[in-house]
Amino acid sequence: MVQGSANLNTEINEKWLQEYVDNWVGFFKKQTVDGEVASYIPILAEADQEALGISIIGKNGVAIKSGNTEEKFTIQSISKVLTFIVACMERGLAYVLSRVDVEPTGEAFNSIMHLEITQPKKPFNPLVNSGALTVSSMLEGKTSDRKLEALFILLEKMIGYRPQINVETYESERDTSMRNRAIGYYLLEGDYLESDLGITLETYFKQCSIEITIDDLARIGLVLSNDGYDPDTNEEIIPRAISRLAKAMMLTCGMYNASGKFAAYVGIPAKSGVSGGILAVVPPRVRDEELPFLEGCGIGIYGPALDNQGNSIAGIKLLRHVANQWDLSLF
Ligand code: GLN
Repeated sequence: MVQGSANLNTEINEKWLQEYVDNWVGFFKKQTVDGEVASYIPILAEADQEALGISIIGKNGVAIKSGNTEEKFTIQSISKVLTFIVACMERGLAYVLSRVDVEPTGEAFNSIMHLEITQPKKPFNPLVNSGALTVSSMLEGKTSDRKLEALFILLEKMIGYRPQINVETYESERDTSMRNRAIGYYLLEGDYLESDLGITLETYFKQCSIEITIDDLARIGLVLSNDGYDPDTNEEIIPRAISRLAKAMMLTCGMYNASGKFAAYVGIPAKSGVSGGILAVVPPRVRDEELPFLEGCGIGIYGPALDNQGNSIAGIKLLRHVANQWDLSLF
């Protein structure tokens, strides 16, 4: 039985919220044993299977965090949301959408199946690997470092510092990722890549290897919750139309082939990565009762033990519980 699930109708106080969340993290941490850390990129297999942490940052300034809060981990597939945003800012929404569709696949993130059976081979969406590689190829710049510069500038605006690439993870993925190379060749055949395949893969592997924390994810989520505006200064960081589309992509395609269930049972835009991170966005909502984070918040989760779909097994359960208790769903 999860404790601390009482109705929060009464006065909402940060200390109470902290106690609830501590309790929930303690409960769901036990479920990490049912998952497995990713091992197809060798270095990811070294992660602590039992880790679970959450950070929630509200527009009202309330910040709650609990569990394994200090770990740095690589952003992995969550980077796909950000490179999509950068490509749209650099190349324009219409152009990017002429090269990548916005349909969920219902398949694993690195599936080749659709590229093989659909004609033209236009990638289904920017959050599966085929779409993400296409997007990385579209970033401005001739080298992978030049291509990622705008991403680092965007990240710095959102999280307040310039994050680092974890070189070991980058090399580990670069030296093992045959499947991404295969996807790259399909894209080359369909004429979807706008850069040399080698540069495109290098860009993609580097973006996946950027190291962040759950606080960073919560801050990114908060900017998206605030329609792309800095929650403190109100400066536009991402144009609203692009932030809107990024959230729509997260809601429909963000949790791999569990996206439908996640939308149904949790009901907020989210994106996961194989290192066990989840970025979630809670837009402002209108309710008759007083509930936590009514003005919106960003949530970052880390729990490297994954379920069969590649999502953090305890992280998803924790997020679902928080969303149900605080009525975070959009619907
Ligand atoms: N680097 C990973 C890959 O493409 C990212 C995947 C993920 O987080 N799902 O294999």
